[in-house]
Amino acid sequence: MINHPAEPFRIKMVEPIHLISREQREKAMQVAGYNLFSLKAQDVYIDLLTDSGTGAMSQHQWAAIMEGDESYAGASSYFHLQEAMQQIFGFEYFVPTHQGRAAENILCAIKIKPGNIIPSNMHFDTTDANIRARGGIPDNCVTSEAFDIHSSNPFKGNMDLEKLENVIKTAGAENIPFGCITITNNAGGGQPVSLQNIKETAALYHKYNIPFFIDCCRYAENSYFIKKREAGYEQKSLLEIANEIFSLADGAFMSAKKDAIVNIGGFLAVRDQDLFQDICNELILREGFITYGGLSGRDLEAMAVGLKEGLDENYLTYRIGQTAYLGQQLIEKGVPIIEPPGGHAIYVDAGSFLDHIPQPEFPGQAVAAALYLEGGIRAIEIGSVMFAHPDPYSGEMVYPKLELVRLALPRRVYTQSHLDYVVEIFTHLKDRRKDLRGYKLTYAPPLLRHFTARFTPLT
Ligand SMILES: *Cc1c(COP(=O)(O)O)cnc(C)c1O
Repeated sequence: MINHPAEPFRIKMVEPIHLISREQREKAMQVAGYNLFSLKAQDVYIDLLTDSGTGAMSQHQWAAIMEGDESYAGASSYFHLQEAMQQIFGFEYFVPTHQGRAAENILCAIKIKPGNIIPSNMHFDTTDANIRARGGIPDNCVTSEAFDIHSSNPFKGNMDLEKLENVIKTAGAENIPFGCITITNNAGGGQPVSLQNIKETAALYHKYNIPFFIDCCRYAENSYFIKKREAGYEQKSLLEIANEIFSLADGAFMSAKKDAIVNIGGFLAVRDQDLFQDICNELILREGFITYGGLSGRDLEAMAVGLKEGLDENYLTYRIGQTAYLGQQLIEKGVPIIEPPGGHAIYVDAGSFLDHIPQPEFPGQAVAAALYLEGGIRAIEIGSVMFAHPDPYSGEMVYPKLELVRLALPRRVYTQSHLDYVVEIFTHLKDRRKDLRGYKLTYAPPLLRHFTARFTPLT
């Protein structure tokens, strides 16, 4: 048995959680139309729906909150955040935003003209949607190993540079107002990108005079993977690695709900003064004044402290170790997952776990529903419920390559016993997996259907 390093904190405040009875869980699922988004959070025992905004803040963050300066303009909380931003990211300018997608919206509103192409290793769904909302076309150039669930490549989030250069040549650099990379690659299993690859990506964008932006929601987890897996970085501090990453870019945007361990917040940072001026105008229109950007002073304080705590090596050793522990335990029990385990989540290969359920009957949904019915655990389906869509020409259904269920780990929230419980429930499910049945949709909206769809179990 491989144990992960013990939590580098002890618990001072607790939030009770309850496992309601099997009968109550069945009732709750019926009422929810078997959609886990429609459950009351109170009826969930272990909530692994997302790692976004669900982390536990530290005593230092709570203490900082009490010092929040709620002045409309020029609040001291803003300058505390600016100090942390300078130390870690080093961009000349930044604005706070209320979430990551607000930063994306502002950047896309300013930069994108209809028909423009925006490449990345893999855009997260909000980035993808914000690009499309301005008439742009997102393009994903991640290495093809990202789709091989058993490849043990240590940097499966890497950009395929050949694909990227082809996209640039085909589109023409003048039609690419900026290019991106996402670290770690959330949409592709939380897999990291190497510093070498970030360097080469930056060089390629710059060869064509394309500004390079980093979607850096999990910059700290990615920095930790670089230190542990990439030759030449073993002796560097995580701060030095982060500094090197961002020195390569022209800007960055972040959802602070991830590695800054806050419940709400984000930012957009740039080097170019003219662009910053446009950003400020757009920010004031949509989010708020330059020194608060849609957040309260106390949120800025919590973020300033959280950005630094997220980069602490003891914390990350525990954090990444915890994810690896869950992954290792599931592999040992014969549950197939995307390997190697990523930073913030484990992705179970539901398609092969329930290989008797065909894609039109939603094997991922079947695993997610069974996890709740069996153990009160909430996960999220990332498969045909989320991504299957009719082909615009033939009308035939197009199914995604993989049927996954994501178990996202909130930061500093659950202990090893909670994870052991999750593994135990999976072991039960494995023993009776042949009894599990698929689902049929009874309602589906035209877009983003996974949030509000309703199902009925097949018998
Ligand atoms: C969460 C996330 C976003 C969007 O951030 P929100 O705060 O949810 O708006 C963008 N990119 C990545 C990679 C993310 O994980």
